[in-house]
Amino acid sequence: MMDRLIFTRQSFFLYGMMFENRNVNGGTEMRWSDLTTPWKRSFLQAWEAYCNGSIPIGSVLVNQQGEIVLEGRNRVLEGTAPVKQVFGNRLAHAEMNVLLQLNGKDYEEMSEATIYSTMEPCIQCFGAIILSKVRNICFAATDDKLAGATTIKDEHGFIESRNLNIRGPFPILGEVQMVLRTDFLLRTFTTERAEELIAAHAIDYPIGVSVGRTIFQLNTLQEVKNVSDGFPLLFDELVTKIKQVKQAHSV
Ligand SMILES: [Zn+2]
Repeated sequence: MMDRLIFTRQSFFLYGMMFENRNVNGGTEMRWSDLTTPWKRSFLQAWEAYCNGSIPIGSVLVNQQGEIVLEGRNRVLEGTAPVKQVFGNRLAHAEMNVLLQLNGKDYEEMSEATIYSTMEPCIQCFGAIILSKVRNICFAATDDKLAGATTIKDEHGFIESRNLNIRGPFPILGEVQMVLRTDFLLRTFTTERAEELIAAHAIDYPIGVSVGRTIFQLNTLQEVKNVSDGFPLLFDELVTKIKQVKQAHSV
């Protein structure tokens, strides 16, 4: 067990050294330590989902004071969940597992709360957010070529009346999310189905998808799964790689 852990750590950090010119933007690139706590917790939830074989999407709910009050993650391919959360079916999305923890009086404070998600809320979750009276939505990666639903906000009278404040996508965070997702799709679905979904994501995230394919071939995420608290370093390495590829494409 210990040998395996050491080997994994070594190969993980060696992998990190493969990325040269770490500060490709003169030292200004986004680091894990620059993220706000809600984003850190959302991505850690997404990573936990990935490590448990579910779709890597995480979500948190932040109150008016900026405190994280609830967390949740995708559990569609799992056999358990904490009380009040759902698992093992197609509806067990990250945002649902946050919102299902709310109780009667909580709704009185939801208009000032903010829900974060690493992926644009889908048709189901967008509806659940609105019905839970949450007005502020923050998401990392757009999903408007597939299930993402926030773009319908101005096309439906009831939704429009809720006066939503939607922020997203966030470019680098979205690319990192898409790396995780691409690896998950290639690992989980048939090649035909994975490529169909990846082709849709590649329209908005060609670099995230490209890095995701490389990461999948290198088996990096599977190795990092065995490193305790390995995600922050992985995040920084992915950001570096994404920026390198972006820079190479812009030359
Ligand atoms: Zn959803």
